[in-house]
Amino acid sequence: MRALRLLEWKSEPVVEEVEEPQAGPGQVVVRIGGAGACHSDLHLMHEFTEGALAWGPPFTLGHENAGWVHELGDGVTGLEVGQPVAVYGPWGCGTCRRCQLGIETYCENLAAAPVPGGGGGLGMDGGMAELMLVPAARLIVPLPVGLDPLHAAPLTDAGLTPYHAVRRSWAKLAPDATAVVIGVGGLGHLAVQILEATTAARVVAVDSRPQALALAQEYGADVTVEAGEGAADEIRRATGGRGADVVLDLVGADATIALGAAVARPLGDVTVVGIAGGSMAFSFFSQPYEVSLQTTYWGSRPELIEVLDLGSRGLLRPKVTQVSLDDAVDAYRRMADGKLDGRVVVVP
Ligand code: NAD
Ligand code: ZN
Ligand code: ZN
Repeated sequence: MRALRLLEWKSEPVVEEVEEPQAGPGQVVVRIGGAGACHSDLHLMHEFTEGALAWGPPFTLGHENAGWVHELGDGVTGLEVGQPVAVYGPWGCGTCRRCQLGIETYCENLAAAPVPGGGGGLGMDGGMAELMLVPAARLIVPLPVGLDPLHAAPLTDAGLTPYHAVRRSWAKLAPDATAVVIGVGGLGHLAVQILEATTAARVVAVDSRPQALALAQEYGADVTVEAGEGAADEIRRATGGRGADVVLDLVGADATIALGAAVARPLGDVTVVGIAGGSMAFSFFSQPYEVSLQTTYWGSRPELIEVLDLGSRGLLRPKVTQVSLDDAVDAYRRMADGKLDGRVVVVP
């Protein structure tokens, strides 16, 4: 079968012929219906070097995946060949306390995970291929009625990651609160919808691209703000001078982290999700009183079930651009140039 593979650090992936995977005991092979192209893949291709992570190339890209059960290994019950499913992407050991709660993002026994701190498309072969091996049936989540694999795929990361970030700030997102979403790309266009679907907060969307702001508006953002020098003042005005209760920074550059800290309201949350490598100096006065600064990584398996439920009910509608394996590299280049809206999903 054909697969889009990262062969070494600091390179673009290539389409190669590889062997079809086979399901061993307890494993599942999924026929891929969609594999989302995440900006993290660009970070992987261009920023990481040998030794930076516990794992490395070669591997097949694609860490947001959905499709249909293709083969069940010995001992797997409760799933059927042909059944539409999503793949829960963070792969932990499966038995530590965090993993048992479904929080495999923060597995406490990474030495026993399939690949320490990674997963399919992150050190192990991912979904940008016709078939994908999932090492344990617990990592398979059946799709609810009304959701197809093409649209479920981006929900497993571009949806799940901001859902987790929003969910942990729910208590601060009362009807008179304001949430600011910085970066309305793959994650951000779903973050706006998650806020609309699960809170009554006002949503302010910030991006440097006018078409991203238009998309945010289409999905219900109350205010859109162009990134740049005047952004903080504009957000402050939009909140009646109070500032934002919750900031989701889906970029993570110096400028966006500074913007988040500048517009947060006392007692607010600033959550950095984007990994553009920015930083800020932290001190007593670097942000308003009792602002919590936090990072989040992906989400839990129970949260994925909730996100898929929102998707099946039409409350989350990922904007999907479908491309073939052969067009994937070009799509990543367009992502790097800021020319994509919503999510590109590779359909092998
Ligand atoms: P994307 O390329 O689809 O979207 C990024 C958006 O940010 C674009 O709309 C772009 O115009 C906008 N942007 C860029 N610089 C900006 C700036 N200075 N100010 C305002 N807007 C700006 O990317 P994505 O796939 O949504 O991923 C976003 C980030 O989140 C990436 O860094 C990615 O690696 C990271 N990520 C983190 C996690 C996690 O678990 N923490 C999970 C998935 C992705
Ligand atoms: Zn990702
Ligand atoms: Zn674990």
